[in-house]
Amino acid sequence: MNDHNLPEHCSSLGNDEKFCFACHPEVPCFNECCHQLDLILTPYDVLRLKNKLNRHSGMFLEQFVIIEWEEGMLFPTCYLTMVDDGKASCVFLEDDGCRVYADRPAACRAYPVGRGVSCQQDGSMQEQLVLLREPHCRGFEAGKQFTAAAYFQDQGLEEYNRYNDQMTQLLQHPKIQAGFRPTKEQADQYIMALYNLDTFRQDLNHGYIKTNNPLSLIGLQSGLQSLETNDNELLLMAIRWLIQEYFGEYV
Ligand code: SF4
Ligand code: SF4
Repeated sequence: MNDHNLPEHCSSLGNDEKFCFACHPEVPCFNECCHQLDLILTPYDVLRLKNKLNRHSGMFLEQFVIIEWEEGMLFPTCYLTMVDDGKASCVFLEDDGCRVYADRPAACRAYPVGRGVSCQQDGSMQEQLVLLREPHCRGFEAGKQFTAAAYFQDQGLEEYNRYNDQMTQLLQHPKIQAGFRPTKEQADQYIMALYNLDTFRQDLNHGYIKTNNPLSLIGLQSGLQSLETNDNELLLMAIRWLIQEYFGEYV
């Protein structure tokens, strides 16, 4: 990757490259990075957060998420709410730190490492890594040495990556390159199936799911009984269903 094409303070990070980092309540910049963020939530982030807070997914979206989408865009984007306290603090920030720390979103776990994945023609995933050295972040001044993989393990990111990577088959489907853009109805389906899992489950149970591809529902409904309490599996099923629904095939 050419560093000249990267955003400010970013440099590419090789798989074996090491960096020193430590973030803890004693760093002088503690919590400084939890303000004024465009923090994009993945479906798995929302799954973890709504379960952490014991909220119905619909209620969670209403309270904590801003959804952006307009005609011509690709899929909707879900942002975590920042509160109007003069500092645009994250809605989960408290004086002693993050109130959802054990279930914080992938972007918060990965910082200061950025990770992108692209789906190759043979179905394999290629990973690109960058290191973000923002001037306010004092975490680089001391701490353990990590490679990106060791850091991700330390931050409990591997499970997040596993579920988030499944989304690339939807978000990077070849038909998108060929010009596919969702209708309003399809954008609503995207939010309901991926981000509003509790409603998705209820609607499946009651036969309320609207589809252009009735065959895709047969697989969904037959697997539903085993998914009554398993949100992780339901999310994977939702991803597969949307690929069938939008593109008529699962790649
Ligand atoms: S979720 Fe937690 S770690 Fe992430 S920005 Fe909010 S307060 Fe900070
Ligand atoms: S700015 Fe860096 S060191 Fe400071 S709290 Fe945030 S991640 Fe940790």
